[in-house]
Amino acid sequence: MEPDIQTPFQKYASLIVIILVLLAGTFVYLYIATRNELKETSEEYFNTRTELEGNIANLQNKLATAESQNRGLQTALDIEKGRNDDFANTIQEIAGTVGVLEKLSKTDEELLQKYSKVYFLNEHYVPANLSQINPDNLYDESQDQYIHTQVLPLLENMIRDAAQEDITLYVRSAYRSFGTQTALKNGYKVTYGEGANTFSADQGFSEHQLGTTADFTTTGMNGALDGFDNTKAYSWLLDNAHKYGFTLSYPKGNAYYVFEPWHWRFVGKDLATFLFEEKKHFYDLDQRTIDTYLINIFD
Ligand SMILES: [Zn+2]
Repeated sequence: MEPDIQTPFQKYASLIVIILVLLAGTFVYLYIATRNELKETSEEYFNTRTELEGNIANLQNKLATAESQNRGLQTALDIEKGRNDDFANTIQEIAGTVGVLEKLSKTDEELLQKYSKVYFLNEHYVPANLSQINPDNLYDESQDQYIHTQVLPLLENMIRDAAQEDITLYVRSAYRSFGTQTALKNGYKVTYGEGANTFSADQGFSEHQLGTTADFTTTGMNGALDGFDNTKAYSWLLDNAHKYGFTLSYPKGNAYYVFEPWHWRFVGKDLATFLFEEKKHFYDLDQRTIDTYLINIFD
């Protein structure tokens, strides 16, 4: 009998087979295990992703809600701010109105009143404040002349500025009391009879009694008033008097009174400038339009 001699290969073959089987088994096991694990991980990943997506959607909704609430609050805030501003404006308006009323209550409404043959200034009216005109500005220095205190600086500035252009303006007459006027009118009556009414008194009367009006003459006229419209001084006043708040009460061809080129009434810079620019005259305007300028007459 041949001895059972195993070759080294045969000797280890079974061992190798066993090892190979074991290795194969291990691989299979590992493969299955890994696959399962992957599957689980993948499921887990999917679940987590779904959950996170849900959370994100949820948060987006919350954010949208919060933004919407924010806008709502902003709108409410804007409305409230608006109300606040309105309130502040109202307060300011009220304060402004009170200021205007206070200023108006202190402003003599006669200052811009139209006088006519039927509406005169009350005979007892006396201006609140009168100031003496510098005698240098008078034609007749021996007779003191007075004008409304707040008009005086404007009158004197006007005379001084005219002088710088070689125009001499003399005040012939300014404030006249009711008594003075009556005496003057009576004087005219003696000379001219009833015709005196047409040139001495009536409307011009009230304007002098008001204390805001001046009659001017200039060099070379011997103190006369007639013919003043042919002088350089008259032309200068037509171009410049409005800057100082003066206006010609009774222009040539007016429907209310005789032409009085020498007779200039203070109505405030705003109104005088308006009349100058619109080529209108004081007595052409409605009293209501004139009254809107009263508040700023001395501004
Ligand atoms: Zn006059």
